[in-house]
Amino acid sequence: MRAIVYTGPNQMALDEQPIPEPAPGEVLVRVHAVGICGSDMHAYHGYDDRRPPPLVLGHEAAGIIASGPRAGERVAINPLVVDPECPVARAGRPHLSPTRAIISMPPRPGAFAEYVTIPERNILPVPDGLSMRDAALSEPVAVSWHAVRIGLERLGQPRPRVLVQGGGAIGVAAALVARHMGAEAIDLAEPHPGRRALLEHEAGITGFDPTSQDPGESAYDLVIDAVGAVATRQAASRLVRPGGVIVHVGLLPGQEGYDIRRITLQEITITGSYCYTPEDFAAALDALAQGALGALGWVEVRPFAGAVTAFAELDAGKVSAAKIVLDLAEL
Ligand SMILES: [Zn+2]
Repeated sequence: MRAIVYTGPNQMALDEQPIPEPAPGEVLVRVHAVGICGSDMHAYHGYDDRRPPPLVLGHEAAGIIASGPRAGERVAINPLVVDPECPVARAGRPHLSPTRAIISMPPRPGAFAEYVTIPERNILPVPDGLSMRDAALSEPVAVSWHAVRIGLERLGQPRPRVLVQGGGAIGVAAALVARHMGAEAIDLAEPHPGRRALLEHEAGITGFDPTSQDPGESAYDLVIDAVGAVATRQAASRLVRPGGVIVHVGLLPGQEGYDIRRITLQEITITGSYCYTPEDFAAALDALAQGALGALGWVEVRPFAGAVTAFAELDAGKVSAAKIVLDLAEL
């Protein structure tokens, strides 16, 4: 099968590999669509110790079961593999289990390949009418779903004013999910005009340039930080209202930025947000199937053969789309 292998910092190569054998309890999936994630880019740069080369990256995939009794079923892949018997998983938070492992981290190769194996409990049927491209979005949308959901739960206030920082896929999807979940007004802080334009036709979501516009202290009830940089943490500390909530999703290097004094005096809640529960994943896939998240014009499809180029262009900042999905259907 063809696979894209990360061979060393800033290097990718299209390669031939044997088709993997599913272990007991696993299925073999012929990948039809797979998204490129910020964490794939992070690994590509050689910054992720959990992803040493040579390695097949990619964890945002949908495809068709290729063998066994369920052959032919269209499925989305939940790439977060967890021991279901772990006490943390049994308590309802499998994404926090010490056994958690995402495909594209050894020993599990990722989905930038024609075939991938995955435990059967990690696949979800793709509803009729939902394209493989959109089914592959269920993973990043699930990340956003989880972040917005836990933020709203901690806030406990209907119709909040929401700030989303960062117009990448997680930020864009978080803005759309916040609207779906009933936010009153949603602002998207993103310096890049091309990225801001991705949502300009979406009602209820307003983009602005945080480097030149200041919404003012206490402007928001809930802040979703989908960047995770010093500047966004500084801004979130000031822009959230007293008693408000900040959800930290982004994973850029560095730890500084929060105004701990204001956070203490104004009883601001900060929570991290990582991945999703299986319920979040299913809800994200369902919302995509219902068309509840808008026109998805922020997604660009490219042929699998163009993957190496796509990485280089993403690296060079030449891509306005918030998400590139690779199409493997015609291979
Ligand atoms: Zn991802």
